[in-house]
Amino acid sequence: MELWFTESQTKNIGLQIRVKETLFMGKSEFQDVAVVDSHQFGRMLVLDGVFQTSIAEEFIYHEMIAHVPLFTHPNPKNVLVIGGGDGGAIREVVRHDAVEKAEMVEIDGMVVEVSKQFLPEISEAMIQPHPKLELKIGDGIQYMKDAENKYDVIIVDCSDPIGPGEGLFTPEFYSNVYKALKEDGLFVQQTESPFYHQELITYVSKEISALFPITKMYLANIPLYPSGLHCFTMGSKKYNPLEVNTDNIQELKTRYHNKDIQKSCFVLPNFVQDLLK
Ligand code: SAM
Repeated sequence: MELWFTESQTKNIGLQIRVKETLFMGKSEFQDVAVVDSHQFGRMLVLDGVFQTSIAEEFIYHEMIAHVPLFTHPNPKNVLVIGGGDGGAIREVVRHDAVEKAEMVEIDGMVVEVSKQFLPEISEAMIQPHPKLELKIGDGIQYMKDAENKYDVIIVDCSDPIGPGEGLFTPEFYSNVYKALKEDGLFVQQTESPFYHQELITYVSKEISALFPITKMYLANIPLYPSGLHCFTMGSKKYNPLEVNTDNIQELKTRYHNKDIQKSCFVLPNFVQDLLK
């Protein structure tokens, strides 16, 4: 018998994946957590019925959410990842020589444990905890309320703005992120699909520009996510990602990010530029 799993990406469209095997199914305090093994993408993490990451294409999202902000900041010593319970973003963060301490605050301990068990390629920095890593299970929203002038870079690797991630898209959260950053700090958040989530993108860009002197959006092609075109929004107190001298950045072995993409990912099609006006 063939087994298919469908993620409803909007009310009118779904992504259907042929499943080999369900490896885990559970319910945490915060969400339904599942890991399935699929024919197309290999093992996949699914939260509340929404695909989060997969072995086949996770490198695109995780390299882009980590390397673009970390190479925009000239000396990112203290870095915080909010969310990112699969461990992919933090795996990329700790590879940067400049990073001395990488904190991670994930609300759902079950996501961390299940990722360690079933997605070790992604969660490797959490399995044998990397010496730079300090992992906390807690609410990133609360964590930001209490932090001040502490981080060079904050990466918000959150799920969709529903469920436990909803409060990670509010003006209050953004102003706490601003407060938690040092005077030349910057942050980035995954901000969904410019094709399907246009209201959200316009809203986030407006809120972030109200706080940060430099607000920029960048794109990546991510096969698993709605429409395949995914965007990230960066708020920066001082450093402009378009002015990075890519000759000086650390050589990292990567599969998607490179020196040209560090800059070219900020080139936006007209319909995306229009969302930011
Ligand atoms: N790359 C993914 C995507 O865009 O679909 C996101 C992956 S990561 C698994 C998202 C994580 O954010 C989840 O593990 C979820 O538990 C976590 N999260 C949601 N709300 C949170 C909060 N308030 N504080 C900390 N982590 C949170």
